[in-house]
Amino acid sequence: MNKTPECTPLQLALCQLDRVAKKIKLDPCIHEKLKHPKTILIVSVPIKMDNGKLEVFTGYRVQHNIDRGPSKGGIRFHPDVSLDEVQAMAMWMTWKCAVMGLPYGGAKGGVCCDPKKLSDRELEKVTRRFTTEITPFIGPRKDIPAPDVYTNPQTMAWMMDTFSMHSAHAVPSVVTGKPLEIGGSYGRNEATARGCVFAAEEFMRFRGKDIRESTVVIQGYGNAGAFAHKIAQAEGAKVIAVSDSKAGITNPEGLDYEAVSAFKEETGSVKNFPGAKNITNRKLLELECDLLIPAALGNQITAENAPRIRAGLIAEAANGPTTEEANIILHRRKIPVIPDIVASAGGVVVSCFEWAQNLMGYFWTAEEVSTRLNDVMSLACRRVWDISREKKIDLRLAAYIVAVSRVAEAARLRGIYP
Ligand code: NAD
Repeated sequence: MNKTPECTPLQLALCQLDRVAKKIKLDPCIHEKLKHPKTILIVSVPIKMDNGKLEVFTGYRVQHNIDRGPSKGGIRFHPDVSLDEVQAMAMWMTWKCAVMGLPYGGAKGGVCCDPKKLSDRELEKVTRRFTTEITPFIGPRKDIPAPDVYTNPQTMAWMMDTFSMHSAHAVPSVVTGKPLEIGGSYGRNEATARGCVFAAEEFMRFRGKDIRESTVVIQGYGNAGAFAHKIAQAEGAKVIAVSDSKAGITNPEGLDYEAVSAFKEETGSVKNFPGAKNITNRKLLELECDLLIPAALGNQITAENAPRIRAGLIAEAANGPTTEEANIILHRRKIPVIPDIVASAGGVVVSCFEWAQNLMGYFWTAEEVSTRLNDVMSLACRRVWDISREKKIDLRLAAYIVAVSRVAEAARLRGIYP
């Protein structure tokens, strides 16, 4: 991973909070409160592996804030998962939910493991034991996990089942991103990508541009990246490069979603896709394009490569892909960045819809979900755009002003207990 020594994810998150606090003259007491997560859980996840040996993984769940409602955020299975990163992502979830106007605070979780080296049985054991360890702290009115990097609807089904077994009744609303058959929502799988492409289209429209005449580069080919390819192509854009952890591929004539995804399904990677040129992930980020969608991991656009980025617009489907220094460089170079808390919020918006449908016991059609997602995204994009124009600031700072102001107001109204 292209991690730079610039700063850790938590330092970046705190630095972003300081920047906005200064701008909105945030009450120092509320600022202090928002710097600290409400709850940090570190749990051991001992697993009897298929070979009979015991391995102990470390799991985390951080709940950053619950001033606007129960906390919400994904679970990541990755060897780089650390408390620092989980804390940062929990804080970003608070801002993401607030900027989208959702009745949630932020949380994040993860298990430090390499899921590619685990069998399905071992993965299920990791999921069930981790869920058991955090069970007292999660619940439909407390904290609602969802999928993130290398977790998926099957992981959520195991989490839901484990929590339900401990409760002695079915509790579908404890997690979102579940399969449809056990209370998932239409549109959840594609929601992050759909929201990201919709946000990009909105900001292009504000700037008099049209996605149908644009070229798109996507880093990462999982849930967020692959669906972004599918949706951008369906919207009429030409996707000229995509990548996964093994390599990137490019073809200036365009890459067909069906063909690339079938190839990745068959071979395990986009690398060596027929008719395309292999490139490194590093080079991919520097390709000339109208829209760049980082949809892999954090810290990908840094002070080192930001001067060479040649995108007309960046929409952050990933969490924290741009460092603070890179953000400043891109702003100076007049390359707008739709920040993660807006561009990657489609998933949590539809998660909120899934949770609401579970609590009601009444389900919406795919069309209803899609229309409501567009409505929520559209409102948030317009608000962020207006503030950035009015205050002559970058989109990230504008989004943070909306988000932090909303959370601060909720915190002020509720007061500090006791
Ligand atoms: P995923 O596990 O489905 O896919 C991750 C993809 O990134 C894979 O294709 C993998 O090969 C690729 N990848 C890993 N390391 C890479 C590297 N060094 N360079 C290039 N590609 C690399 O994960 P996802 O759910 O698509 O999440 C991707 C990003 O989107 C993460 O930052 C996640 O936090 C963010 N996100 C996801 C959701 C969601 O609903 N899935 C919601 C909001 C944000």
